[in-house]
Amino acid sequence: MSINQSTKPVTTIRNGNLQIGGCNLVELAKQYGTPLYVMDEQTIRGICREYKQSFSNCKNIVMTYASKALCNMTIAKIIAQEGFGFDAVSAGELYVLNKAGVNMKKVTFNGNNKTEEEIDIALSYGIGLFSVDNFHEAELLNKLSASKGIVTDILIRITPGIECHTHDYIKTGQINSKFGFDLSQTEKIVELIVKEYKNLNLKGLHAHVGSQIFESECYKDEIDVLVRELANINSKFGLNMSILNIGGGLGVKYTEDDTPLSVEKFSNAIADGLSTAQIKYNIRDLTLFIEPGRSIVSTAGVTLYTIGSSKITSDGKKYIAVDGGMADNPRPSMYQAKYSAEIANDTAGRIEQTVTIAGRYCESGDILINDILLPEVFAGDILCVFNTGAYNRSMASNYNQTRKPAMVLVNNSQSDMIVNRESFEDLIALEKVPDRLSK
Ligand SMILES: *Cc1c(COP(=O)(O)O)cnc(C)c1O
Repeated sequence: MSINQSTKPVTTIRNGNLQIGGCNLVELAKQYGTPLYVMDEQTIRGICREYKQSFSNCKNIVMTYASKALCNMTIAKIIAQEGFGFDAVSAGELYVLNKAGVNMKKVTFNGNNKTEEEIDIALSYGIGLFSVDNFHEAELLNKLSASKGIVTDILIRITPGIECHTHDYIKTGQINSKFGFDLSQTEKIVELIVKEYKNLNLKGLHAHVGSQIFESECYKDEIDVLVRELANINSKFGLNMSILNIGGGLGVKYTEDDTPLSVEKFSNAIADGLSTAQIKYNIRDLTLFIEPGRSIVSTAGVTLYTIGSSKITSDGKKYIAVDGGMADNPRPSMYQAKYSAEIANDTAGRIEQTVTIAGRYCESGDILINDILLPEVFAGDILCVFNTGAYNRSMASNYNQTRKPAMVLVNNSQSDMIVNRESFEDLIALEKVPDRLSK
């Protein structure tokens, strides 16, 4: 089974307690406090290796990790060691990747509104590729490249008009998306690049059809559209574009109801779609880029919480409250995302019951998990929520002036703090009270 097809990293039980990476989760909670993000290094490396293995038949393949899923120096180092490049969507992500020692030539810069400052920073890092999203950016990037006397390699981001079955907010490839050029605009932008933007070098096309995708058909459809466009543009403008970046989006298994493709099925569908399209449109030797984010880090991550208060409503609904919630994991309140969880400490002899896991934030919508079957839960128990490696820490906030949790990396029975828990001082570190109020 592919790692992304499991609801959790490899776990073992020791003295009734749950362990990941040989580390007892109850002891981690005690040592580092809760809420606590825990990342399992072997799970991250394992999925990276599955990707490499599954795509090893592709002659020209470049895999870049979508940093926005989880971006810190340790995670970047691990993924770089596995041979991946990166894509970034802000100067902040570029900064972190650079500080992690990532080869910036292996970085692609994405995003629908890169600012002038960000483009300038990206150029000074010498990143490998820009995915140009819109007319404004093309003009700006050309101008800034010219002012530095360089020619910048670019892809253009296309909206291929593909509908995938996923949540509306995480769907990006459909016609009315905010991202990219739609097909009626591609020739216009190519013409501008070819005729006027002499400091841009067009290397290929890019699209991303959405996230948490379970089906292979939309990737085949996407590849068909992209290869058709690429062949068409190459012949019309006498170009030699050879990069096809099909984005990320492979899903993961948050609950038993989720049925993501294995990495192997995903790679087979892509190889199949690519060879079909290359024959159909009579084009050869394309270099394929894929940009997985969620599937690389999600399953490797869990979040530990301490159970506090509970309540039973007059109609019998039982709420259990934890010491975190929407600020460390905004996905349930934002996308109605579902998660699975277990009690990490010994629950031998307890009867199972259905409960709703509530967060501690001042919003009725701050519910982490609706109606989950757990052994009877008591204050002080440690709840382990699975599949929180992607889009949790990276989307976290300080709502209610809570401190963002620490992150710990586990491997071989060893745990290392890789991101400190924020301190109270951190909460006011950027504040300045005007002098006149201090009198
Ligand atoms: C978000 C994003 C990805 C990664 O998507 P996942 O679903 O996390 O794999 C890849 N490419 C682009 C352009 C994106 O915006």
